[in-house]
Amino acid sequence: MTIIRRAAAIIVLLALAACGEPARGSVQPPAPGGAGATATASPLAAHEQPSRLELGEGSVTNLSGRLAGGSSARYLVRGRAGQTMVIDLDSPEEGMLFSIHAFSGATQLTPIVENTRRWSGQWFVAGDYLITISAPAAAAEYALALSTLDIGPLHPPHPTPPLPTAAPDPTAPPAPNKVLYLTFDDGPDPRNTPGLLELLARYNARATFFVLGHYAQAHPDLIQAEAAAGHTVANHTFTHPSLSGISREAFMNEVLGTKEVISGVGANCLRPPYGATDANTRAYAAEIGYEVIMWDIDTHDWANPGADEIGRRLLGNARDGAIVLMHDGGGDRAQTIAALEAALPALAEQGYRFEALCQ
Ligand SMILES: [Zn+2]
Repeated sequence: MTIIRRAAAIIVLLALAACGEPARGSVQPPAPGGAGATATASPLAAHEQPSRLELGEGSVTNLSGRLAGGSSARYLVRGRAGQTMVIDLDSPEEGMLFSIHAFSGATQLTPIVENTRRWSGQWFVAGDYLITISAPAAAAEYALALSTLDIGPLHPPHPTPPLPTAAPDPTAPPAPNKVLYLTFDDGPDPRNTPGLLELLARYNARATFFVLGHYAQAHPDLIQAEAAAGHTVANHTFTHPSLSGISREAFMNEVLGTKEVISGVGANCLRPPYGATDANTRAYAAEIGYEVIMWDIDTHDWANPGADEIGRRLLGNARDGAIVLMHDGGGDRAQTIAALEAALPALAEQGYRFEALCQ
C-alpha cells in the first residue's frame, strides 16, 4: 500500500499581514516535465485578512514585494506529509533573509531553519509552516519563489540499524514471568490507532505511545483513549526533526510543545526521532527531567515489509525486558496490526506479558 495518496494534492498558502508594501502573488507555469498546475491568486494588502492561494503539485509560486527597513513579511504554508518544497529568496539587499518555523494554531513553534536565502526539504508532518522574511536596516525589494515537488515516500522514520539483540537460548527453561515493552511511534493516527487499541485490549496488553505533538493536537480523543486504557503516552517531539545538532531553543519548542499538548496524561519520557541524539540534546532532556527511551528490537514495520516479516522480527528476537519499536503513524500500519494479531497470542503462550514504560 502506498504511504501517500498522490491524488488531489493541494497546497494552501496563506499570506499573512506583510509590513511595508503589499506582496503580490503570481503563479508561474510548472517547470518542464512537472505536473500540471492550476491556481489563482489575488493581490494582498497589509491590512487584509489572510488570503488563500491554492496550487497544484509540481508548481512554482512567485511572490514579490518591498519591505521597509527592519520590517518583515510572513507567509503561512500548509505542508503535506512527504511533500518536498524548495524556497528561494532573491533581493538586492544582502541582509534580506528568511526563516521557517513550524506553526500551530496561533503559536509559532520550532525553528526549522533560520536566516537563509535558500532552503529545500521534506515536510514530515502535515501542518502549517510559517515563512518570515526579514528586511535589513535598509528598505529593499524581494522576490520569493516557492516550488512544490511531487509528494514521494517519506524518508524512513527510523533508518538507524537495530541494536544488537541476543539470540534466544533454546535450552534455557522458560521464565514464568517475562515482560515485553511494546512501543508505537509517530501517532496518533485515526487510520491505525483505534484498531491497535482494540487489539491490545483483547490481550490485556499495555503499551507505550510516543506521539507527535502535531498529531496529538489534531486527535485529542485518541490521546485520551490511549491513557484511559492504561497505556503510557510519551513524547516523540512536535514535528519529528532529528534532535542531533538541534539548538536548545528548537529542542525545547519540540519537546515542551508536545508536553503541553499531552499535559495531564503525558509521561516525561522522550523517544528521539530516528533515534538521533547528541551529548547536548541528552543534556537538554535531563535538564527538563526527561528520560530518553530507545529500543532493543526494531521490527522495521515502517517499511511495510509484510506482516510475516514484522512478526518474525518480533518473535525471533523477543526476550525478557526488551523494548520493541513499532509504529501507529507515518502511513498505513495494517501490516503492524496484522503482525501483532498473530504474535501476541504466541508470545503470551511463551509466558510474556506486555507492560507500559515510564509509569
Ligand atoms: Zn518516529
